[in-house]
Amino acid sequence: MSASATAAAKPEAPEWKPNRERIADELRNVDAIHEGKPTCRLCGQVVNGLDTFGLCSKVTATHKEWRGDAVPGKARKR
Ligand SMILES: [Zn+2]
Repeated sequence: MSASATAAAKPEAPEWKPNRERIADELRNVDAIHEGKPTCRLCGQVVNGLDTFGLCSKVTATHKEWRGDAVPGKARKR
């Protein structure tokens, strides 16, 4: 009996699905960076201009924190 006869014929190769949306999104970012646009130090968002802290204009708690703003709901010790 020959066992190697079936060895070459593999079942189906695992399906590889390119995540088009994600790729498009990243390409868009790369384009913007190549255009010389800055990106947020925190979230990587490409913007036309950064604020003094090198951040985009988002106002999430993290962004506020980086700007040194008091974050509501977060108790400040000291
Ligand atoms: Zn940001």
